[in-house]
Amino acid sequence: MPGPKSLTSLPLRGLRIARRYGWTTSRFLGHLEGMQELCRRYEAPCSFPLPAVLLARHPFLADRLRDATVLVHGLFHLDYAELDSASQQHHLTLAKRLFERHQLLAKGFRAPYLSIDATLEESLRETGYEYDSSRTWILTSHLNALPKSVQGFVKAQYRPSSGESASPPQTYPMELPVALPDDEIMIDRLHYPEREISRTLLGLLEQAEPTRGAVVLQLHPERFPLFRSSLETVLSHARDRGWWLTDLDSLADHIRHRPDGVPPRWPGSGVAALAVSGDIDGITSRDFLSRGSLDELKVDDIT
Ligand SMILES: [Zn+2]
Repeated sequence: MPGPKSLTSLPLRGLRIARRYGWTTSRFLGHLEGMQELCRRYEAPCSFPLPAVLLARHPFLADRLRDATVLVHGLFHLDYAELDSASQQHHLTLAKRLFERHQLLAKGFRAPYLSIDATLEESLRETGYEYDSSRTWILTSHLNALPKSVQGFVKAQYRPSSGESASPPQTYPMELPVALPDDEIMIDRLHYPEREISRTLLGLLEQAEPTRGAVVLQLHPERFPLFRSSLETVLSHARDRGWWLTDLDSLADHIRHRPDGVPPRWPGSGVAALAVSGDIDGITSRDFLSRGSLDELKVDDIT
């Protein structure tokens, strides 16, 4: 979802949300199921970051995600880099507890708006998150090919690393950077047809393969009908080329346990690693009317 610094006007964003989600949960859940089903066909487990408040609002959502990898995407969908570290740690701890209450185990974190800095990383360390997937990278060639206004947006909003490497360094919490452009940039800003989305995503894979890198895609389930065939193209390509198709928890575990200083080796002799992820920012339009509050969560119940 575009952040507070987004160029997208509020009325346009409101219209898009109303059209994509509707006022009941059925449209979004259909897209989520479609995306999970497609990934299952390719034995490519999906990872879904979500704000913990959604579990309090829609407890049945936990059952829909029981077989998936889930990440904390905030307690609420807000810019955590703007909070002080005490508030960050309070929210990060409550979010984990809320996930546990719904029998979901979250080992990783993705920041809303992909907005992260050193203070927030320290808060993740303090609250026991094993990995983070909020930093971004983009191929220099892809960045340079974007229209100037979109280039400016991408640089200001995400401050991506623009190296040519997709290999995550070993840090703690481990960083599993998101590859840009994501679906939001390609669909809402660049209005790419699926052919162009496929070409761009395949370009990311082709770049990562010679260095045996890891590619983490960000594809929001609410846009599933708009990227369905591109995702299938990418999964099919990766499977045929012998990639390791994995989820973010397994990717983090594998990197943590591999020896230092050797070229990446992936399970099953995978030539490189691909993890498909998609933030769940809300499941009906109503979720966007209010981010939620500690009062709504009855914090006493979860502390
Ligand atoms: Zn989000």
